[in-house]
Amino acid sequence: TGGWHGRRVTVAGLGVSGVPAARVLRGLGAEVTVVNDGDDDRSRAQARELAGLGVTVRLGDGDTLPPGTGLVVTAPGWRPDKPLFAAAAAAGVEIWGDVELAWRLRGEGAAPWLAVTGTNGKTTTVRMLAAILAAAGLRTAAVGNIGVSLLDAVTGDETYDVLAVELSSYQLHWAPSPRAHSAAVLNLAPDHLDWHGSMEAYAADKGRIYEGNQVACVYNAADKATSDLVRAADVEEGCRAIGFTLGAPGPSELGVVDGLLVDRAFVEDRQRQAQELAEVADVTPAVPHNIANALAAAALARAYGVPAAAVRDGLRAFRPDPHRMEHVADVAGVTYIDDSKATNTHATEASLASYDPIVWIAGGLAKGATFDELVAGAAGRLRGAVLIGADRGLIREALTRHAPQVPVVDLDRTDTGAMAAAVHAATRLAQPGDTVLMAPACASMDMFANYNKRGEAFAQAVRSLAAEHA
Ligand code: ADP
Repeated sequence: TGGWHGRRVTVAGLGVSGVPAARVLRGLGAEVTVVNDGDDDRSRAQARELAGLGVTVRLGDGDTLPPGTGLVVTAPGWRPDKPLFAAAAAAGVEIWGDVELAWRLRGEGAAPWLAVTGTNGKTTTVRMLAAILAAAGLRTAAVGNIGVSLLDAVTGDETYDVLAVELSSYQLHWAPSPRAHSAAVLNLAPDHLDWHGSMEAYAADKGRIYEGNQVACVYNAADKATSDLVRAADVEEGCRAIGFTLGAPGPSELGVVDGLLVDRAFVEDRQRQAQELAEVADVTPAVPHNIANALAAAALARAYGVPAAAVRDGLRAFRPDPHRMEHVADVAGVTYIDDSKATNTHATEASLASYDPIVWIAGGLAKGATFDELVAGAAGRLRGAVLIGADRGLIREALTRHAPQVPVVDLDRTDTGAMAAAVHAATRLAQPGDTVLMAPACASMDMFANYNKRGEAFAQAVRSLAAEHA
């Protein structure tokens, strides 16, 4: 990691990746300038903190490349078509993302990475993986695109045996060098296509996670796009393609047999017998897509040499993050589930497949999505639907086309109070034994600051309802 003294580095963007990047590079002696589009209170506070370390910060202009820049380190979310990058390319200046920087700065004998990407389920899988590794007695952390800086983990004082790393498609786009010990792509469905430019470009960025892997490339046997990526990747000699499936596993797969998660890929006795890892009931919640997440986490842990018992103990210790199919309450025989994190149709499809019958609360910002396939697939399980948010009309039209028998309440509201009204409307539609599922299939920013706030509004309304019934 030598050679940083006096080097002129431009960091693009403050925030969860830019602030640690600027701090670490400054600590190595680089001359750091941060350029940032925004000029709000939060950026100003971050700028003041960095200025105290001798970092130059330019607020309100993220498009001009400071003269003399020798390297650009970008926040992952910055679009590749930003003028700053054209200027860097024209000047022959390299562009690294935060993950590339972390890889280059990791020390001698650094902890290997077990990496996870995919359209949905990344955070859940990485947390399951960290729980399994911890149950095996390993020093580990869940880091990356989950709000915990990978850069801080690789440059900080804490020592790790192995890291569970969540990587977004954006981060992978800007990170050509990292080589994981093993990596998994959970699934691949259209998302963020405006950023990547096309489905092909999105898939190619995700596929980078397999490149140069040392031990295992884990793919979803039910999602052909992920196995295509393994085949297309330039994987190192000896790196094995390992599939996971919700059915009985083939010889290089992990799967499910008689209510048990089993491993036929990393069997210790080499008899190619399936080895029992855990019970399906050890997974919370034990719904199909989440069992798939557990199998992917188990595959990575097993690739790292973790024994079967630790897989079971880790899965039992795992609890999902808030707003991911979170059970809020049962009121008058109706179950209320907060899946505010279901911000796209692929996630919502998994969610709707997990309950029956459902009163569905949906709507928000559609981000260009279409809802026909989603609604057609779930029509048979819907007791009713309650729609809120800016793009609810698109969902209402899909319901009219594919589920004309399902009663729909269109609240025609985009204010924050609409969520409580939606809970009441859903409660009137629900019968004992039903699930009221808030899985909006949309982003939240038309009504809420983020999906957390949306989930909290739902949970709050459900708790008031429960209090009325108590
Ligand atoms: P990510 O980090 O990729 O956004 P999360 O683990 O936070 O994923 O889950 C986001 C949402 O995606 C959850 O609310 C859940 O409904 C859905 N989901 C989780 N795992 C899967 C999966 N394997 N396939 C499809 N949808 C999933």
